[in-house]
Amino acid sequence: MSETIKGDAFVDGRWLPGTARFPVKDPFDDTLIAEVTDADEAMVDAAVAAAARVFPTWKRRPAPERGKLLGQLGARMLSEERRLAELCTRENGKPIKEAIAEVRYAASFLTWFGAEASRIYGETIPASNPDQRLTVVREAIGPVAVITPWNFPYAMLTRKLGAALAAGCTVVAKPAEATPLGTLALADLAEDVGLPAGVFNVVPSSHGGKLGGYLLSRPQIRKISFTGSTEVGQQIMKNAAADLKRVSLELGGNAPFIVLADADLDAAVAGALVAKFRNSGQTCVAANRFIVEAPIADAFAEKLCAAVGKLVVGRGSDSATDIGPVIDNSAVEKIAGLVDDAVKRGATVLLGAPPDGKTRLIHPIVLAGITPEMALWRTEIFGPVIALRTAASEAEAIAQANDTEFGLVAYVYTRDGARQQRVAEALEAGMVGVNEGLVSTAQAPFGGIKHSGLGREGSRHGIDDYTNLKYIATRIG
Ligand code: NAD
Repeated sequence: MSETIKGDAFVDGRWLPGTARFPVKDPFDDTLIAEVTDADEAMVDAAVAAAARVFPTWKRRPAPERGKLLGQLGARMLSEERRLAELCTRENGKPIKEAIAEVRYAASFLTWFGAEASRIYGETIPASNPDQRLTVVREAIGPVAVITPWNFPYAMLTRKLGAALAAGCTVVAKPAEATPLGTLALADLAEDVGLPAGVFNVVPSSHGGKLGGYLLSRPQIRKISFTGSTEVGQQIMKNAAADLKRVSLELGGNAPFIVLADADLDAAVAGALVAKFRNSGQTCVAANRFIVEAPIADAFAEKLCAAVGKLVVGRGSDSATDIGPVIDNSAVEKIAGLVDDAVKRGATVLLGAPPDGKTRLIHPIVLAGITPEMALWRTEIFGPVIALRTAASEAEAIAQANDTEFGLVAYVYTRDGARQQRVAEALEAGMVGVNEGLVSTAQAPFGGIKHSGLGREGSRHGIDDYTNLKYIATRIG
């Protein structure tokens, strides 16, 4: 493993420089970090051919051995956590403390799925006919195409890679244009721990839509695992119909964060900071719409503004930084447009000021008086903006929370045990945080409903999407 940044494509166990390169830049100041191979269709063909060639051998390799390699890869990530985190901060911009947390979180999927590889159990079914034995085995689907976004370059990859390799699938990964370096760094470690050539391939590209589309269309690919925007996910699902490929989609969110009148307000504020500001607000599970019961609305807003006002905005590599730059200029424009629209339609600015478009460092903004006509009510803000709306009752809070086509995660703060259960059950979301602002963990099923996607990642359920059930009826008499 070299200390230099790997910038070549990784195909069939070889590092390929290719004929074209594209720049990867630090979102803080556009400094060039590396020139990366711009993979072409021939490279994708070679990667898919390698993944298909090695698949039968890899899937027959005993599960404990596959699991052991995954465990070793996770351990290597942890032993290199500082270097990997610094690379992540450079290409993504996130604060170094969050990058370290991401490396640990990403490694936890490799450890978790490494252990789960030995527990991909089948079934025996009591038959009606005494001369028959009915068994069900779970078989690896085949080569998998993995497409990931820029906001969690390591974790969004390992959540898929861990499950796929544990199940016995092979992988061709296409990282996001802005953040290919983390994926290549992981390929480097995978090579180091002895993952066989062709089991994990990486094809970076500056034109992710085109090359990603080509990768997904290859007939040898039997499953697509995509994390990214809802629009692209919808397109991918349509295209996958041609070959009836299995599809898992982890898509956008529009999470409600409900604070009911009996909530512990200090706990709610602490949870809000976690749920809102990780990665400068650029997470799919970011609290997008704060819904606060009327009697405590002013008190909550006051405590929230006091806490948000203390957050440090700056370069990710500075250990004091809480909020780094957003990923690019179009993110700044989008956030500024949403804030402008809300203010024009009557929102009050309680803290901060609309971004001026001159820097990617956006100071947190708290807006009150949000109404459903404002664009940010329906749009994933993906930035450090808190939008507060009041609700007259628990029932109204639930109705407001469910007023979205998304359904990834929802948060609720209340001290009342019955209310906790009642509201959690009424919320239309794949995941609910009750007095908890951070729900993601390798042991639990992560995923959404409605326009937030299909399938689950992490937990024992995370492997299901990478296996087919095969039922075998055997006549014994
Ligand atoms: P994006 O959809 O623009 O891109 C995601 C990936 O898809 C990139 O690698 C990109 O190159 C590739 N891509 C783009 N068009 C494609 C096409 N036509 N065919 C194949 N691949 C294509 O999303 P983004 O801006 O990188 O990421 C942000 C989005 O991801 C947000 O909506 C966020 O909520 C979502 N996200 C969801 C989860 C989750 O687990 N639900 C996690 C992280 C991010």
